[in-house]
Amino acid sequence: MMRFDYDLFTIGAGSGGVRASRMAGQLGARVAVAENYRIGGTCVIRGCVPKKLLSYAAHYAEDLEDALGYGWTIAGASFSWPTLIENKNREIARLSGVYADGLARSSVAVIEGTARLLDAHTVAIGERRVTAQSVLIATGGWPAKPTIPGSEHAITSNEAFELPALPRHVLIVGGGYVAAEFAGIFNGLGAKVTLSYRGEQILRGFDNDVRHHLHDEMGKKGVRILLNSVVSSISRRADGALEVAVSGVPGNTLSCDSVMFATGRTPNTARLGLAEAGVKLDEAGGVVVDRFCRSSVANIYAVGDVTHRIALTPVAIREGAAVAMTLFGGMETPVDHDEVPSAVFSQPPVGTVGLSETKAVAKFGKVHIYKASFRPLRHTLSGRDERTLIKLVVDAATQRVVGAHMVGAEAPEIIQGIAIAVKAGLTKAQFDATVGIHPTAAEEFVTLREKTEGK
Ligand SMILES: Cc1cc2nc3c(=O)[nH]c(=O)nc-3n(C[C@H](O)[C@H](O)[C@H](O)COP(=O)(O)OP(=O)(O)OC[C@H]3O[C@@H](n4cnc5c(N)ncnc54)[C@H](O)[C@@H]3O)c2cc1C
Repeated sequence: MMRFDYDLFTIGAGSGGVRASRMAGQLGARVAVAENYRIGGTCVIRGCVPKKLLSYAAHYAEDLEDALGYGWTIAGASFSWPTLIENKNREIARLSGVYADGLARSSVAVIEGTARLLDAHTVAIGERRVTAQSVLIATGGWPAKPTIPGSEHAITSNEAFELPALPRHVLIVGGGYVAAEFAGIFNGLGAKVTLSYRGEQILRGFDNDVRHHLHDEMGKKGVRILLNSVVSSISRRADGALEVAVSGVPGNTLSCDSVMFATGRTPNTARLGLAEAGVKLDEAGGVVVDRFCRSSVANIYAVGDVTHRIALTPVAIREGAAVAMTLFGGMETPVDHDEVPSAVFSQPPVGTVGLSETKAVAKFGKVHIYKASFRPLRHTLSGRDERTLIKLVVDAATQRVVGAHMVGAEAPEIIQGIAIAVKAGLTKAQFDATVGIHPTAAEEFVTLREKTEGK
């Protein structure tokens, strides 16, 4: 019998790759993982974690203003971008170390460098050749940049985390969650922010009420949002400023000192030797996998963003764990991609689980909608003009709550709890039977009475 160097070779030490490798090691497999940047991957180094830290930083601007209404006088407050970035860098270095320790404690060998497949069982990392019984592709994704003249002048989220100074005026191109989040971050920290999105409304795929509500709230906070707007070129002027051709502004040009593309991400499958090894890719370059994350080559698996399904850390982690269980835990483990909750750490944030009203109508025909938009108690004294939206989508026939959506303070924390009820298939009557916690915004989820028909 052929003896391989490893039972499992993982390419990419991000959310999915680390979880699969660690679990496989703990289950007794001989495991190695290759990483060509930093252990922890996108989420830890330039995704969820640093983004949320920056988003906290941005919110202090409002907190300081809101404190006035509560009797506080805060004189001389100022903000330092270099301090924030330095402190953020210290925290992600610590976290990356925690991930590395976890791999070491699970006896996973870490190989630094860029890996590519030579065949279904052989991986090259530079001059080194390694063989493995199973291979896991967990290489994540990379920000996509539109090919317009001058796109080299634009940054992406990767660089946004490392800017030497806070830009004075940023143009963010895109309308997804990363665009909305960075608009809130830069705006809160004091930059002038324009967001250009080519679609009808930001946050495509989210519930329409959520999209409109967030649009309005972001606008109230000073973010200028251009819809049906196209950026067609960028050039650098002699004075260093960027001149951008963008529709939707007077003269169709805008000058700013930073353009950030938040226009989606492409799976990292180029130059991995996948097609040569017989691994099928989809049109976007994602690895095509079955419900066990197995590719078209029986011993090659793929998890996380590289599979171009749901690009979220907890999903990549679930998939990684499932692969380890399937391969070494003696249990074929599929991954359930239904009712995955998610958040947008915008200002204010969004939390969502289940179906939007539009998708629920398409699936069930008749739905009942319960919603409320209100001024949160906190802002009665702060005087801030910010409203919270809460919405439930109920399948009329079964009375199951099939979607829950919120825009407002702590929405991601609140929706995580509501997600258990939606995943469990609870009915509106069971929501109603739950006593609220008063005074909270979350209690609205169990006190919504007025029903409208979904369209
Ligand atoms: C700005 C931003 C904010 C985000 N915020 C959130 C959030 O709030 N919540 C959430 O759930 N998700 C968020 N995400 C998404 C989340 O980061 C990803 O879904 C998650 O990191 C995917 O994990 P992964 O294991 O698939 O890939 P990754 O974490 O990207 O890891 C892939 C790893 O593979 C390495 N690699 C690539 N090619 C090779 C190679 N050939 N050889 C060796 N190593 C290689 C890379 O360096 C990387 O470390 C965010 C993403 C971005 C960009």
